[in-house]
Amino acid sequence: MSDSYDVIVIGAGPAGYPAAIRAGQHGLKVACLDEWKNLDGSHSFGGTCLNAGCIPSKALLESSELVHRAHAEFATHGIRLTTVEVDLAQMQKRKAGIVKTSSQGIQVLFKGAKVTGLPGHGRLLPGRQVEHSAPDGTKTVLQAKHVVLASGSTPMALSSAPFDGERIVDSWGALEFAAVPKRLGVIGAGVIGLELGSVWRRLGAEVVMLEALESFLPMTDQQLAKEALRHLKKQGLDIRLGAKVTGAVVKGGVVEVSFADAKGAQSLSVDKLVVAIGRRPQTAGLLADGTGVALDERGFIRVDNDCRTGAENIWAVGDCVRGPMLAHKGKEEGLMVADRIAGQHAEVNYKTIPAVIYTAPEIAWVGQTEEQVKATGRPYKTGVFPFLASGRARAMESTQGFAKVIAATDDDEILGVHIIGPLAGELIAEAVLAMEYSASTEDLQRTIHAHPTLSEALHEAALAADRIAIDIPNR
Ligand code: FAD
Ligand code: NAD
Repeated sequence: MSDSYDVIVIGAGPAGYPAAIRAGQHGLKVACLDEWKNLDGSHSFGGTCLNAGCIPSKALLESSELVHRAHAEFATHGIRLTTVEVDLAQMQKRKAGIVKTSSQGIQVLFKGAKVTGLPGHGRLLPGRQVEHSAPDGTKTVLQAKHVVLASGSTPMALSSAPFDGERIVDSWGALEFAAVPKRLGVIGAGVIGLELGSVWRRLGAEVVMLEALESFLPMTDQQLAKEALRHLKKQGLDIRLGAKVTGAVVKGGVVEVSFADAKGAQSLSVDKLVVAIGRRPQTAGLLADGTGVALDERGFIRVDNDCRTGAENIWAVGDCVRGPMLAHKGKEEGLMVADRIAGQHAEVNYKTIPAVIYTAPEIAWVGQTEEQVKATGRPYKTGVFPFLASGRARAMESTQGFAKVIAATDDDEILGVHIIGPLAGELIAEAVLAMEYSASTEDLQRTIHAHPTLSEALHEAALAADRIAIDIPNR
């Protein structure tokens, strides 16, 4: 029967499409449904990450960083430019091209793994049936042996500053500005706020960020957060902590934002306002009555450690389930589930999920922060190596930040690695691998790192943990 599949995946974001491809690689008959709609109404695979998240944001971060470097660093390198002109239309065109190529790439990958990609909405019915509503309105009921829910997440709205799609926008809107706003307000100094705030600041906007919490990046190692705040403020991001937004109204083409902080009631006038206060799981219209799939109190699909929902052969992965909302976390869950469906043993090591914030300097970490380790009461040691002491970083004119290794004193096991500095997001991969194999600082100390490379910072930080660093004094 052609409408019957071994596996149906609902959602083709970074959690769903890898699950579909891996299931196809196992020789299973797979369909992957996705309802994503681009701003022009067209459909594309890849979900939030590819169409309106990770990829377009990194494209604009790269372009805007080049503008910043042209202004701030080229003269130091001995490169004189008379003017630096920003062609935002070209920048946006490049970004759109990257997104389009990546999305088309998923269709090629689906073909290679014999996955049937079906544009349209999927709704789980009882008995592992899935109702597929195609873009032309046709409804078909498909039967599956296994269903993987990978419906992702959507931006949270703020009732005191409702989106209008024009002046008050979400992260997708903030990736699509056709002109650089003179004054940009950002509600939320989290990952999205910092990345998109950086893009528009580098392109010339005055950026004010209103963060409700008194602490900055509370989930990161606080030594790192302190260093990050210093550099980001120096770049002109006006980050106001402890700022509670009470309202935002559009008047005469300007957004008037009211908020309260330690100084009392305040107001702010901006040309655009980005609301980036977190994302919520997307489950609207996903589950018919009687499927046996349950949501938790925050709206996430309930799953166990192996991403089983509790309903027979129904799995859920990615942003729609507990855990960090990160593309690579969703991908690993998708692969694990597909392998398990094929009868293999697979698991996700939730202790070694890296996190990267693509500001300049970049921020990246894996494992526990120093605050978390301290709270466990286990004796520990730390080693810190500043990029200022790295020959490669000096040659790159990128000496901000440091690499920090935290390890247990008793058995030397690495418990956490935190890097702020050039290409921190790339450097963290070595630490992830080390921790995946339960490496000790001695393992890192005795591993040869090419010279001169940024990766030597991690080597030296591991040496510094035992006060035997070579390229910095040991204190
Ligand atoms: P999604 O990517 O949200 O995909 C879910 C898909 O399912 C969507 O296409 C949706 O339309 C579809 N869908 C939902 N319900 C149905 C249904 N009922 N029927 C059919 N289709 C349905 N993460 C990182 O790791 N690194 C980054 O650099 C990064 N940058 C980001 C930047 C921004 C601006 C944003 C907003 C997010 C960023 N993220 C980043 C987070 C990342 O995008 C998410 O963690 C990731 O996309 C989650 O993947 P997912 O597959 O679970 O869900
Ligand atoms: P976030 O949780 O990172 O940050 C939201 C911030 O908004 C927090 O600091 C929070 O305290 C603040 N906030 C909440 N309510 C507020 C209010 N009423 N007023 C002022 N501040 C308020 O969420 P995000 O930045 O929206 O990102 C959403 C998700 O997307 C995150 O889970 C993140 O992991 C993911 N993401 C990842 C990357 C990356 O990996 N580089 C990039 C972008 C997004």
